[in-house]
Amino acid sequence: MSAVLGTYNRRDISFSKGKGCYLYATNGDKYLDFVSGIAVNSLGHCHDHLVQTIQKQSEQLWHVSNAFIIPEQERLAQRLVDHTFADYAVFMNSGAEATEASIKIARKYFYEIGKPEKNRIITFTGAFHGRTLASLFAANNPEHVKGFGPKVDGFDQVPFADHDALKKAINENTAAIMVETILGEGGIRVLPNECLAGLRKLCDEQDILLILDEVQCGVGRTGKFFAFEWAGIEPDIVPIAKGIGGGFPIGVCLVNKKVSIGMKPGTHGSTFGGNPLAMSIGNAVLDIILEKGFLEKVQEIGSYFEEQLKKLQKQYSNIITDVRGKGLLRGIQIKGDSVKFLDQLFKNKMLGVKASDNVIRLLPPLIVTKKEIDEAITIIEKTIKEF
Ligand SMILES: *Cc1c(COP(=O)(O)O)cnc(C)c1O
Repeated sequence: MSAVLGTYNRRDISFSKGKGCYLYATNGDKYLDFVSGIAVNSLGHCHDHLVQTIQKQSEQLWHVSNAFIIPEQERLAQRLVDHTFADYAVFMNSGAEATEASIKIARKYFYEIGKPEKNRIITFTGAFHGRTLASLFAANNPEHVKGFGPKVDGFDQVPFADHDALKKAINENTAAIMVETILGEGGIRVLPNECLAGLRKLCDEQDILLILDEVQCGVGRTGKFFAFEWAGIEPDIVPIAKGIGGGFPIGVCLVNKKVSIGMKPGTHGSTFGGNPLAMSIGNAVLDIILEKGFLEKVQEIGSYFEEQLKKLQKQYSNIITDVRGKGLLRGIQIKGDSVKFLDQLFKNKMLGVKASDNVIRLLPPLIVTKKEIDEAITIIEKTIKEF
């Protein structure tokens, strides 16, 4: 019996050690980790630079209130701003908080410019934005919202990829469109570049804001710092989280100057958000990800991974029906029971994670090597043969 509230279906295993792309179970078994804590361990487990950083910072200063200037926070904000579309960053502890902050900032902007009636956000079916009340009802996944009513108002949902429905849903109350650049939980569905460009154009024409949720696909996962960079567009607001802390909880909302104007002292806050310990680790993650050539390497290895997966798809088209994603955010769609496939993968000492649409997500650490990709492909092939 566990005293932990049963909100998760957990696999009957626990780990005591991790290094790079591998996890070591308490019974000594070694697993190839292609989950990375769901795109969290961006630099793999116990990366030397992160270990050294947390050791050093833990002897200096852990936490001070945001009532004071926090140099590590200033530095991380400046670096994020220097390398992205954003002009400001605000710090929290999770992806859900970062998406909620995005919603607040969008509403406050229109309030500030004298259009308080523009306060509704258009979202898409199949989306995932987190498990707080507002982020929950923003995504409106029937399984997730069941029993948690009353519904949090302020969201107008349209079917994913339905352009006409989207256009029809826009009215004088629309403040923003919020969508994941690549739907993660929703089955690694990539918004094509022309759709992202179309969304940007639509938002400009209709005087509404574009929020791109990059909590899962951002921070180098696709081989660019942000996934939307592939489309050559700039959104107004971007929540990130998972990968930026490398395993330490950090959520960030990035905004451009235009939409930032409403967010004055007292409009938002987080006790833990942006504390020195978290920020030193965020900076350490950036030290590596922004290193010259790092993202190019992710692109290269990501393409190799895609090629190998597509080869498997061609050879075993009766089982792999689709290969999706970008960079190291990959999904394979399974014909048959994807949970059973994952169980078999696990028996073969490799970890993957489920997404909807019968897709198995494969999210190796960004430092994964060609050799480890080859190992994964061998295990996947073995699993297919046994499936
Ligand atoms: C995981 C995720 C969230 C929520 O992040 P939490 O840290 O679990 O609150 C929000 N949006 C997307 C796209 C995610 O993948």
